[in-house]
Amino acid sequence: MNNLIAMAKKMVQRKIVLWLGGLIGISGFGIIVLVMIVVLLIVGIAGGSASQTVNGGGSYCSVTGEVNHDLMDSTLAGAGKLAGTKDMIIQLSSEKGIDPVLFAAIAIHETGYGTSNAIVNKNNPGGLMNPATGSRELYVFDTLEEGLRGMANTLHNRIIKDGLVTIEDLGSVYAPVGAGNDPNGLNGHWVPNVTSIAEELGGLTMNCEQGGDVLIVGDKAWPVPSTKTITSVYGFRTIKVNGVWQSRLHAGVDIAGGNVNGKPIVSYAAGVVTKSQNHAGGWGNHVVIDHGGGVQTLYAHMIEKGVPVGTQVNAGSYLGRVGSTGNSTGPHLHFEVYVNGQTVDPMLYLTPILAGASES
Ligand SMILES: [Zn+2]
Repeated sequence: MNNLIAMAKKMVQRKIVLWLGGLIGISGFGIIVLVMIVVLLIVGIAGGSASQTVNGGGSYCSVTGEVNHDLMDSTLAGAGKLAGTKDMIIQLSSEKGIDPVLFAAIAIHETGYGTSNAIVNKNNPGGLMNPATGSRELYVFDTLEEGLRGMANTLHNRIIKDGLVTIEDLGSVYAPVGAGNDPNGLNGHWVPNVTSIAEELGGLTMNCEQGGDVLIVGDKAWPVPSTKTITSVYGFRTIKVNGVWQSRLHAGVDIAGGNVNGKPIVSYAAGVVTKSQNHAGGWGNHVVIDHGGGVQTLYAHMIEKGVPVGTQVNAGSYLGRVGSTGNSTGPHLHFEVYVNGQTVDPMLYLTPILAGASES
């Protein structure tokens, strides 16, 4: 009982914090929109520049702050039974005060792109259990609209009533990492998958203000939007290993900064994710992107598993969040660039982004 009361208290405290965060987020967003308009005007006057800044809040926020109808239509078109449900999802979301993009992303993930037994045979995208069966069987809805309505109600309760407004917060309830019923650790995929789908849908339209502006110059992006501080460069250094001084190559650059823990990491350029795994002793949770032409980039020490293998990314696409997993002494991104399998100094690739940004 005491536990329940403590939990309830925590929930209320959390709600207040999130509510305040929301207020700051809205005004912050307003300022960012103004800044963007000014930047666009200047860029227009200058006759077009290669540099652009994609809104405040990590790459998984919608650039305009609004639903991207084209991307939402096209993504849902490839999501089995969810094809053509955009207007329904937007309508239900506005009734329930939730983000239609988040709703769609979770529906797509939970139904395996609209192909699960629950949605195909029971019109039940939210996987709601029927209390009449002692919650042992899935509820059967007459229509998909009713099933989506049931799911919207559940999301409303989690997001509005419980204050779980971010994908990370919702993931801790929908798919708790380390849960007893998850022996294969699949829950670790929930947050990166839903985030990646939200981006495919055009980006979230609510509660996505954290992270900083994604800096894109030409077709390349700076990998950590929240900071441009390099804390360790590429090259040989002398370190003591088991009491013996040795020369070791630091094969990448480290990017860090005051508040970097948990902040988004984005792709340097377009490509496909070829590795997304945990390496306990070295890189921790890391992602490798193949950009074609023999060029690959590596993003190490993520706080949790990054986006899954096979994900197609663009410059500035969300990959994961900064952490300190593996062989790391504090939160940072360890970033490597490979050309034909050999590491090269990443600053050769990153400096033009910084130079391009300062020119504009
Ligand atoms: Zn490093």
